Amino acid sequence: MNLTILGATGSIGQSTLDVVGRHPDRYRVFALGALRQHERLAEQCLRFAPRYAVLADEDAARVLRERLATAGCGTEVLTGPRALVEVAAAAEVDAVMAAIVGAAGLEAAIAAGRAGKRILLANKESLVMAGEVFLSACASGGAAVLPIDSEHNAVFQCLPGGRADGPGIRRILLTASGGPFRRASLAEMAKATPEQACAHPNWSMGRKISVDSATMMNKGLELIEAHYLFGLPGSRLEVVVHPQSIVHSLVEYADGSMLAQLGNPDMRTPIAHALAHPERIDSGVAPLELARIGRLDFEEPDMERFPCLGLAHQALDAGGGAPCVLNAANEVAVEAFLARRIAFTGIAELNARVLDALGARPAGADVDSVLALDRDSRRAAAALLEEVAA
Ligand code: NDP
Ligand code: MG
Repeated sequence: MNLTILGATGSIGQSTLDVVGRHPDRYRVFALGALRQHERLAEQCLRFAPRYAVLADEDAARVLRERLATAGCGTEVLTGPRALVEVAAAAEVDAVMAAIVGAAGLEAAIAAGRAGKRILLANKESLVMAGEVFLSACASGGAAVLPIDSEHNAVFQCLPGGRADGPGIRRILLTASGGPFRRASLAEMAKATPEQACAHPNWSMGRKISVDSATMMNKGLELIEAHYLFGLPGSRLEVVVHPQSIVHSLVEYADGSMLAQLGNPDMRTPIAHALAHPERIDSGVAPLELARIGRLDFEEPDMERFPCLGLAHQALDAGGGAPCVLNAANEVAVEAFLARRIAFTGIAELNARVLDALGARPAGADVDSVLALDRDSRRAAAALLEEVAA
């Protein structure tokens, strides 16, 4: 199988290459794409010898090109706005790992969908901002979408038909670790630093999703993602806090059965599942020792300390452009928090204000109108930043 990995230098990209490296007989890397981390991408090119390497940043691409030429590596380095789309849709490619963070991942993911690739979807933002547009591109190209997000991958494994809107299915329960501030007071959260917010107790992830886990906006985005992937309304999607992150999510059936998928919190499990589906391959993840874990705890999420969860439900119920607006506001808010321009609790505040201002906008009918709504929402968020508590 020929693979393009978008976001190769990130947390998911590196885990993907770890799994791929265990199965050189099954997988060949066609292209690797990232933004600017040329050193890490160079190492990956030397090890996996892809046909193409893409860096969106042109200066970084130049450095990579020289480095690979010096090393005698035959990988061709591409840059420019169309390069990611081209390596996602190229005829030689069978599957695309969509693991760029944020709205930047949308166009290449849609191109892969239109071209009928197997899409291993880590970039949840694509579905949140452009659910209908993305899924209709996949349908038009005949692309299969396999969720990488651990919760959605778990749900997929617990749903033999892949959809939840058929008879006999009552609800989907997404588990949430509760993040680093599960037990923190609102006053403590108001003072939280980027370092504290990024110190996730169970998962090692990129900074943006780590902050989203701390605000639980990540679970909010995942509710919206689950709606599009599995076809259930918000009223049949629930969040349950499960601090050990061993049960990755559950599906409840009409007869009272609940099916769950369990495993150690390591993204190589969902990645290996999606790469090999419907077969199973070794991922390098240690087996689960249930007796050593001893107990699994579950509790209700606290909607007061984690208002982002409520905002996601609000956006899901409103439909239209609201999820796209919320996603864009959140990207601006997280960046501002990481740059120490707003307080941790300012993230939810900014998200709420932008959602109030623009949440009634209609959904974009095509990629360009989705990107226009994304831009408008970012502009509105940037304009409101000053007013949000520092
Ligand atoms: P990271 O921040 O670790 O990595 C992001 C990757 O995207 C890097 O390779 C980065 O390149 C690349 N990138 C960023 N902007 C651009 C751009 N404009 N053009 C091209 N490449 C770009 O993120 P994660 O791996 O943690 O997350 C990736 C996606 O997977 C996110 O959507 C996240 O929500 C999702 N996800 C992640 C999980 C995890 O465990 N990490 C779990 C579930 C979902 P560079 O390194 O050069 O900056
Ligand atoms: Mg997740």
